[in-house]
Amino acid sequence: MQPDWIDSFLFLFLLLIFIYVLAVNNITTLHKVYLAFHSLMMIWPFSHLLMHIVPELRFQWFFLNLAFAGLCFLGLGWLVFALVITKKIDEQKRSTLYLYAVPSILSAVLVTTNPWHYLFAIPSGYSWTIRIYGPLFWVFALSGLFYLILSTNLMLRTARTVAESNIKKQLSLCIRGILLLIFFSVFDVLLNVIVYPYTRVIVPGLTSLGIAVSAVCFVISIRKYDLFRIINAAQREVMDNIDTGIVVLDRDRLVLDINASAAKFLNIKPGQIFNASNVLEIGELFNDKAKSLQTEIKRHDGQIRHVTVNVSPVTDDKDKFLGRIITFNDITEIQILLEQIRVNNFVLQKQNQELLAVQEELHKANQKLRQMSITDELTNCYNRRYMLGHMTDEIAVAFRYKIPFSIMILDIDRFKLINDTYGHLVGDDVLRGVVGAVKKNLRRSDVVSRFGGEEFIVYAPHTDRLGALSLAEKIRLTVENHTTRIYQYCLRVTISIGLISFNDWSAETRPVEKILEDLLTKADKALYRAKANGRNCVVAAD
Ligand code: GH3
Ligand code: MG
Ligand code: MG
Repeated sequence: MQPDWIDSFLFLFLLLIFIYVLAVNNITTLHKVYLAFHSLMMIWPFSHLLMHIVPELRFQWFFLNLAFAGLCFLGLGWLVFALVITKKIDEQKRSTLYLYAVPSILSAVLVTTNPWHYLFAIPSGYSWTIRIYGPLFWVFALSGLFYLILSTNLMLRTARTVAESNIKKQLSLCIRGILLLIFFSVFDVLLNVIVYPYTRVIVPGLTSLGIAVSAVCFVISIRKYDLFRIINAAQREVMDNIDTGIVVLDRDRLVLDINASAAKFLNIKPGQIFNASNVLEIGELFNDKAKSLQTEIKRHDGQIRHVTVNVSPVTDDKDKFLGRIITFNDITEIQILLEQIRVNNFVLQKQNQELLAVQEELHKANQKLRQMSITDELTNCYNRRYMLGHMTDEIAVAFRYKIPFSIMILDIDRFKLINDTYGHLVGDDVLRGVVGAVKKNLRRSDVVSRFGGEEFIVYAPHTDRLGALSLAEKIRLTVENHTTRIYQYCLRVTISIGLISFNDWSAETRPVEKILEDLLTKADKALYRAKANGRNCVVAAD
């Protein structure tokens, strides 16, 4: 192998590495398309230059091939660029994209194989620098034209429909670039291919000029309308303004990037090794699985902040470990709020308990009040008000269900004498003693109340005249035999009882209150008769 070939291969090798690095590294598709496209543009003039300076025919043929192969793909490059710039690339199916490449590949093959050594071109004289083209040249030319027209059409259609004027201007600049390229290359073909056999004059560099002019339009369009910078700028903007602190480390913990929020916590710069000396626990998170922890970190301004730290591994498509991203989320405010809520909750709970206690007391007081309002203070039995209400309700029920009932009025005999002899306080005790004696004879459903002075009423439901007479007699006897002991005295009193029983509901149409009033009057009259009969006896009304 000759030394010049070695250099050529090494050059190609370096070029391939360059393409590989661009292809596999994380630059945007737009960057990739641009670089590929620009490289394609450079091939034609560069190869022509080399073809003109090398004397040997085989090298000239090689560079001529390179020039034409580059040109074959330049059309495809314009098409891909047009698809990217019109944002139509994602709509295309992969198979359609491959299909677009077919004419390029085909014409590249035809050009480089030059079948029968003349179908594409033959050298004129002893140099490939001047050549006569065969019929396949036109296949190549048409294929190139096809791409350029397709790209122009695509951009024109988008420029017409798109609303944003910046994109419109950008597209129109690119269209002008393509049209100039078409103009210069057609002009080249016209002068140097079609007219050449007659004039024998070559006008050099026309297609190169077209490529250069179109490249200028193309570069201005991406430079002026910030096609590249906006993404980087937006990413930086997000990084620096986000509240979350972000640190990007490579696999050896070298800091690649740190944003403003993270810089508040960590005194570290890109290029330094990350050691978690001021956030010790973070070190524990350094294994290959994503993990997080809550900790306190002292900020540069001296404030201790609560943060959640998250360390997640970054991997490539094949799951190969590349580095780590550490994020810091300041949750101090949330923590303070939570604490406040906890305290408030505690206070509320206490207040609630106090309220419940007050409510309980109120309930008890209410019960007491109600009890007091229906109880006779002296004897602790029901009072007159309660008794009237109770009897009204009971009589209403008794009437509805035809239940017999009896009412008795009890009056202590010659009570005035007790008061006069022993005093009112002794009289009060006697009153209490009498109530105690009466209660001994009553059923749970019977109710006794103090009706006034030393008069009591007993209401006995489910009790007919006979039953009532027997009950009254028992009460009378119990009271008679009951002794109230007070001071040095043993006192006994007797009572007179007037009673009335009711079990005839047939003719009754009056309201309950009226009936009750009538019954009480009749019982009182019976009591009066008992008094008249000599006291200490029971008289039933008719
Ligand atoms: P009678 O056999 O006719 O009923 O004679 P009495 O003396 O009992 O006459 P009356 O029923 O008219 O007298 C009621 C007396 O009861 C008058 C009053 O001094 C007394 N009294 C009324 N209320 C009370 C009280 O709350 N305490 C005391 N100690 N005495 C009372
Ligand atoms: Mg009386
Ligand atoms: Mg009396």
